[in-house]
Amino acid sequence: MTPNKIHCLIIGSGPAGYTAAIYASRAGLNPVLYQGIQPGGQLTITTEVENYPGYPDGIQGPDMMIHFENQAKRMGADIRYGLATKVDFSSHPLKVQIDEEEWLEADSVIVATGASAKWLGLESEQRLNGYGVSACAVCDGFFFKGKEVAIVGAGDTAAEEALYLSKICSKVHMIVRRGEMRASKVMQERVLKTENITVYWNSQTDEVIGDKKVEAVHIKNTQDGSTTEIPVSAFFVAIGHEPNSGIFKGWLNMDEAGYIQTIPGTSKTNIEGVFACGDVQDKVYRQAVTAAGSGCMAALDAERFLGEKGYH
Ligand code: NDP
Repeated sequence: MTPNKIHCLIIGSGPAGYTAAIYASRAGLNPVLYQGIQPGGQLTITTEVENYPGYPDGIQGPDMMIHFENQAKRMGADIRYGLATKVDFSSHPLKVQIDEEEWLEADSVIVATGASAKWLGLESEQRLNGYGVSACAVCDGFFFKGKEVAIVGAGDTAAEEALYLSKICSKVHMIVRRGEMRASKVMQERVLKTENITVYWNSQTDEVIGDKKVEAVHIKNTQDGSTTEIPVSAFFVAIGHEPNSGIFKGWLNMDEAGYIQTIPGTSKTNIEGVFACGDVQDKVYRQAVTAAGSGCMAALDAERFLGEKGYH
């Protein structure tokens, strides 16, 4: 074994990566986990998490990720700072470059690099992030129970989240930039039939208003130039996610949006010994608990693979 040879290399430090590390450690795979540029992943930029089972009183997202990390460490996982910058999956052992410098060799690789929400790019949106601005209605909608909220986007996610919010909030203002929605017909119909959702067509979000928390959103009609200020307590951004899969392009099969494709019911990719879990391969559910579940699957699949190959 070369000094840099790793049995089970995990890339990414969200719920999927840490759960994979917990299971791989307990299976004796001596996993090494590289945390990437945002240790803890997307949950480190949320506030309270109330829908992760096991926390009856809820927990702050960053605290939860410290728990995940500590649990993985206690099981023996080797957690390291560093970003995977390139891979070479042309032969075994698999090769992964860290921080554009060191090349590591691994018998198995678990990809848990997650996804990043897309943002409009407004200064006010960034400043009020976590103070009423959110990219996850399922995570944060509950905090605005009985209030008026706005959501921007017109795909299936926006439609689904608008419907979710309509059940919790008194009114949902849905801001759509064109004269039609991209969401599937059935979702559009549901949105349009829901009494407490108002759709603003051909509308662009100019500004989220508020000093310390969201108070209103300012929109502009791109057809006639008219502007409207809608008083709301929260502003949800649902304009898509970007899977963090760039370094695997050309190696792993992906859909047109860059989500890594796995064999249904498994975490296996098209490359033997490479497994994918969490949001980088899931554009539908995107929850911490589903990511954790798929991280467990990846570790079990890696263990089986290493056993079959006689590496373990
Ligand atoms: P999409 O890429 O499908 O939609 C993004 C939406 O955001 C589009 O309507 C787009 O507008 C709008 N948008 C993008 N940028 C801006 C901007 N700067 N300002 C205003 N609006 C903007 O992303 P989704 O997350 O909705 O869905 C991703 C994939 O996941 C899709 O394939 C979807 O079908 C799937 N999905 C399936 C679900 C299910 O089956 N239950 C649930 C959720 C997602 P425009 O239309 O003008 O480009």
